[in-house]
Amino acid sequence: MNKPRVYVTRAIPGSGLKILAKRCELTIHNKEELPTKEDIIKNIADKDGLLCMLTDRIDSDILSSGSKLKVISSFSVGVDHISVPEATQRGIYVTYTPGILTEATADLSFALLMATARRVAEADRYIRSGKWKISWSPSMLLGVGVYGKVLGVIGLGRIGTAVAERGLGLKMKVLYYSKNRSLEKEESMGLQYMPIEELVRISDFISIHVPLNKETYHLVNGQLLSLMKKNAIIINTSRGQIIDEEALVEVLKEGRIAGAGLDVFQVEPLEKDNELLKLNNVILTPHLGSATYETRRIMSEVSAQNLISVLEGVAPHNLYNPEVMKIRSLLTVKMI
Ligand code: NAP
Repeated sequence: MNKPRVYVTRAIPGSGLKILAKRCELTIHNKEELPTKEDIIKNIADKDGLLCMLTDRIDSDILSSGSKLKVISSFSVGVDHISVPEATQRGIYVTYTPGILTEATADLSFALLMATARRVAEADRYIRSGKWKISWSPSMLLGVGVYGKVLGVIGLGRIGTAVAERGLGLKMKVLYYSKNRSLEKEESMGLQYMPIEELVRISDFISIHVPLNKETYHLVNGQLLSLMKKNAIIINTSRGQIIDEEALVEVLKEGRIAGAGLDVFQVEPLEKDNELLKLNNVILTPHLGSATYETRRIMSEVSAQNLISVLEGVAPHNLYNPEVMKIRSLLTVKMI
């Protein structure tokens, strides 16, 4: 029997490609630039599987061009770049990499929180630009303290919980707002649930960890930002579209909040004339939440294994759309 055909949209690090190459006939977009929509359409026409990144918009046009597609394995935990309902309707299994990225993303959220509070990037620029003239000054580059402050987590899922744990380690009072209350975490971790407006009003630090969907698009809008304390800081490592970026720029410019630490943006990469680039009280990282050697290595293995499982007719560990099984049973998928 011929090997199943798989298209991989980037040369991923780790052993994922080797794992796939043993079982599948691989086509890899092995270039620095992203594949265009046309590249993907052309390449998946005869493929059984697609391993894609969060930068690939897997929309209706792409899905309809992949008439043989049985599985889309995303090298990410967020799946907002894939039209999942349409994939499901077409009997395509969508897999992802939950859990693996949790600690790395929580670490980066906290790195941004600390760095914004203590103006680390600004201080680095200060030295490099030759402004450091006096060895120590009682009022040089003062920031805000973190220890024992109030941390508000929006979205108490895997990453939100891991961020809450880090906050508790710093004796912070941790509030949360999420779709569903977790009485278990409230009790075991001592967290306090609050409606989002209340949380925003009270918190010294706000960290966002909801997935992007119709409900969460611009969840943090101008009205919510206007409720924040003047010395509060907002951190976003979820998706850029969850904050109204224009409204955020406005409150930052006007000094109505103290700062922001952002890993994700409305448009990525950030455009040259983006107002955020002009602001000193903002720390920016280029979507690096999961960017550790360890995490990317495991994501590579897991995303490859997810894809192979479906083609082997075995339920994958990380199926995002289990309802697809009613439309196409795994036995009819089996290829390997
Ligand atoms: P998760 O475990 O699914 O957690 C998401 C949480 O958000 C859940 O607690 C969920 O509540 C809550 N939620 C969903 N919709 C909501 C709404 N409308 N209002 C309030 N709360 C809502 O996901 P995760 O693994 O923590 O990842 C979160 C997101 O982080 C991902 O979707 C991804 O976009 C982003 N991310 C970014 C990076 C990066 O590189 N910057 C890396 C990893 C992940 P329920 O549990 O009650 O449904």
